[in-house]
Amino acid sequence: MAKANMTPEKTPMPSQDPKVRAHNFDEVATGYTEEMAIEEALRCLGCKNMPCVAGCPVNIRIPEFIAKIKECDFEGAYAVISESSSLPAVCGRVCPQEVQCESRCVRGIKGESVGIGRLERFVADWHNEKCNTPPTQPEKNGFKVAVVGSGPSGLTCAGELAKRGYSVTVFVALHTAGGVLVYGIPEFRLPKSIVQKEVDALKAMGVEIVTNVIIGKTVTVDELLDEGYNAVYIASGAGLPNFMGIPGESYKGVYSANEFLTRSNLMKAYLDNPDTPIMKGGRVAVVGGGNVAMDAARTALRLGAEKVYIVYRRSMDELPARREEVEHAEEEGVEFLLLTNPTEIFGYENPENRRDPKNGFVTGMRCIKMELGEPDERGRRSPVPIPDSYFTLELDCVIMSIGTSPNPLIKSTTSGLDVNRRGGIIVEDGTGKTTKDLVWAGGDAVTGAATVISAMGAGKTAARAIDEHLKSKKK
Ligand code: SF4
Ligand code: SF4
Repeated sequence: MAKANMTPEKTPMPSQDPKVRAHNFDEVATGYTEEMAIEEALRCLGCKNMPCVAGCPVNIRIPEFIAKIKECDFEGAYAVISESSSLPAVCGRVCPQEVQCESRCVRGIKGESVGIGRLERFVADWHNEKCNTPPTQPEKNGFKVAVVGSGPSGLTCAGELAKRGYSVTVFVALHTAGGVLVYGIPEFRLPKSIVQKEVDALKAMGVEIVTNVIIGKTVTVDELLDEGYNAVYIASGAGLPNFMGIPGESYKGVYSANEFLTRSNLMKAYLDNPDTPIMKGGRVAVVGGGNVAMDAARTALRLGAEKVYIVYRRSMDELPARREEVEHAEEEGVEFLLLTNPTEIFGYENPENRRDPKNGFVTGMRCIKMELGEPDERGRRSPVPIPDSYFTLELDCVIMSIGTSPNPLIKSTTSGLDVNRRGGIIVEDGTGKTTKDLVWAGGDAVTGAATVISAMGAGKTAARAIDEHLKSKKK
């Protein structure tokens, strides 16, 4: 075997030039070649105690799959990963590796950690490109499980149960499966074709995907149980956008990030004759500092905005988005207005509907400068307004990206399902069991908006718990 690669930096990831990519929706990072993947794999020391594995919510056996890459056994690497993860091509792209598996990597002590996510992406893409062998369908065990929602949590739970022989039906509210992976994450970060391949792989394992069914409207959870499903896993996500409650949020040209990204991502509003309208061009402010805010800002740029601001009330140190996404946004020309908070959105009257003062168009946003106060008991410094520091941004569009909450529809139509004050479904730690018999839940529907990989971890945990519960009934 080749010698270990002791270079302190990761093998660079090839990517599109920022000036070019700011005007197209193609994927930013183009992925490792086989040579690059082997070079990076040789940076892994194959640590016996595997600290990196403890940082992965789905416990992928990282040193083992990397060892296969070193041997050029890419399909073997895929087999190792897919024992723990149903969505490797997705995780390799959107997982916040730097705070998970890679944060525990010993190579990170004196340099950069091994590029675990990049290697995972390479292996998954290699498999998707080169291998067409359908997965084997396990023998059915006679149990039926309904999964509500087709985002990362629902798909993971479905995959884990299908592997164990369950007949699984995934109910999807929209016309396409993938949940937040398709409506929320833009094409330039996660191509739809990648998600589709992962969904197709689940279908090949026997998972049934039923689209255009809103659980709580078309059919309720109670009805699913009455119809003979032995268990239900609720992974309906957190699709209810939060707003600030400041004047002017109902003007035309104010979007939630969810709406803006759904129109662009899922309904392809960037095409010349789209099925749905969207603001293209003009001056855009995105309020918020998470990954979704970065996605919205970079999407607005690609839709032709002449100026895009991120407006965030804390400083760069507290900005919650991944560093990589922030750097990409800066390189592409997004301007960061930090320690800044909106107080009012202005608009002008719509001449076509003068009777409704709310029916005007955005013209600007009044903001106030902030400073960080003294740390609280948890060491967190809250932003406080600086008196008389108001200023106005001239704008054509405001995108609110200050978080989302679980939609109350399922709770309001299901008997015996308890939720907390933020609307998250209450579940038992370590199993995902809800307060209702035969119903489990996980992902953003429980925690509020979080990461793809934590949602996947919850899906896996619940699948294990459902399996144990149903098998114990059979005995
Ligand atoms: Fe790391 Fe995410 Fe892959 Fe786990 S799934 S190994 S956390 S990149
Ligand atoms: Fe390899 Fe880093 Fe994991 Fe050690 S900690 S096995 S070097 S990836």
